[in-house]
Amino acid sequence: MISELSGKLFIGGRWTAGAGARIAVKNPATDEVIGEIAASTADEINQAVAAARQAFRGWADLPAKARSAALHRLGDAIAADADRMARIMTMEQGKPLNEARGEILKLAEACHFYAEEAVRVHGEIVPGDTTDHHSLVLREPIGVVGAITPWNYPAELVGWKLCASLAAGCTIVIKPADLTPFTALAIAEKVEEAKIPAGVVNVVTGPGSVVGQALVEHPGVDKIAFTGSSAVGLRIQQSATTVKRMSLELGGNCPMIVTETADLDAAVKGAVRRSFRNMGQICIAINRVYVARPIYEAFLAKVKVAAEKLTIGNGIDRPDADLGAMASADPLAKTKEHLADALAKGARLVTGGAAPEGEEFAHGHFFRPTVVADCTHAMKVMSEETFGPLLGIAPYDGLDEAIAHANDTPYGLASYVYAKDMDEVRYLSTRLDYGNVAVNNVDAGVMNAPYGGRKQSGVGYEHGREGMLEYFNFKHVRIRHDDPKGR
Ligand code: NDP
Repeated sequence: MISELSGKLFIGGRWTAGAGARIAVKNPATDEVIGEIAASTADEINQAVAAARQAFRGWADLPAKARSAALHRLGDAIAADADRMARIMTMEQGKPLNEARGEILKLAEACHFYAEEAVRVHGEIVPGDTTDHHSLVLREPIGVVGAITPWNYPAELVGWKLCASLAAGCTIVIKPADLTPFTALAIAEKVEEAKIPAGVVNVVTGPGSVVGQALVEHPGVDKIAFTGSSAVGLRIQQSATTVKRMSLELGGNCPMIVTETADLDAAVKGAVRRSFRNMGQICIAINRVYVARPIYEAFLAKVKVAAEKLTIGNGIDRPDADLGAMASADPLAKTKEHLADALAKGARLVTGGAAPEGEEFAHGHFFRPTVVADCTHAMKVMSEETFGPLLGIAPYDGLDEAIAHANDTPYGLASYVYAKDMDEVRYLSTRLDYGNVAVNNVDAGVMNAPYGGRKQSGVGYEHGREGMLEYFNFKHVRIRHDDPKGR
């Protein structure tokens, strides 16, 4: 399964053994090597961009219905192979099999969503500035997209870029994260199966600082679609050597506010789900919760119980576990660092704080869901993105205090509110300086609405119609007419 993809690149519709050095890929639950990827060479990157460039005109000129049908075929092929693709993802990323399968099915859903959008690319007719002119505003695909993706959602974060690009008429070169390359290569197999023309989709692998950076600097790439850390996003923005369109979906430090009118059980359920799912390795994970003081201790007691109920295991052996291994040693080390910092600065440990015990957990990157209370903004858990299973909680005394704390961050990706009082809901949702505000739910990103951050959380949107607009240039065609009466 993985061995067939090991060391392979997908360029111009052909599978080739990469010529570059090999990098081992490990299963984070066991630390065993599961395969290797090739560090794409400059020549291979040039070939991939050239293949995408060559395929562009033909793909863009296809009737929208044909691109739509291709995306539907891709969605069907992915859904039909969801079990195998999920296994690949779990082995490289660590999340439990059932969750990985859910992500693969959401990728299939993205294919169908953008297949339907592909046939609804409407321009505009703008009234003329004089009576003998009118203006057409056309949407034209940007060209060749370089997609650079992280390891936490190896299917969806490739898929949103892939599907919106293809629907718009763009072609694409994908550079997945080194930790999770095989899901992207498995998607390329489905591209082939769906008979999407050669060169429309290409996958190269290798270190981001070399292969990703080469795409950023490549004059043949018209747009970079990036998801990853704010630091790398900034570097990408500053280091492009030709002017390019960019969408940058970056880090977060997401707050949740629980008011006195909230349904406490629902708020606890939401907090635990969105803090610990995927071991907290989600850009929209709840990092910090502000709870109205009168319900603070009750909230802590319930969060402790709910967090301790979560099951952890090797995602292959325990497909229905709530949590699997963390993707690598780095996010685990950062989680421990943020925990130590909080405890040193006076936080109270509510639950967790160590790896689970037992042989099953001896070699992988595991950690118990951890909650710290009585936190202050001097603590990293409240002011930096942890990207791990650590949740900081603090009480607040008035809505404006909660809002001030929530907005006191360079990030602006997602925020969460639990409140029953509609005046509170309205006030909080207007004042929270975030691209997404989820109220009485924790699903800030859904396929049919725009998803994107502000401030250091990025520029541009994915999902929804807005996500597809990122792949178009607008063209203004201004037409002058002769007065027919004058003929
Ligand atoms: P990184 O920014 O380290 O890496 C993301 C991708 O960029 C990887 O493919 C990486 O390659 C590549 N890369 C690294 N350096 C460069 C470079 N100089 N030029 C071009 N590409 C480069 O992020 P992580 O993989 O660690 O992912 C975690 C981060 O992603 C978190 O901060 C998280 O918040 C953010 N994220 C944001 C989301 C959003 O929608 N806003 C969603 C999910 C995650 P390599 O693998 O070789 O390092």
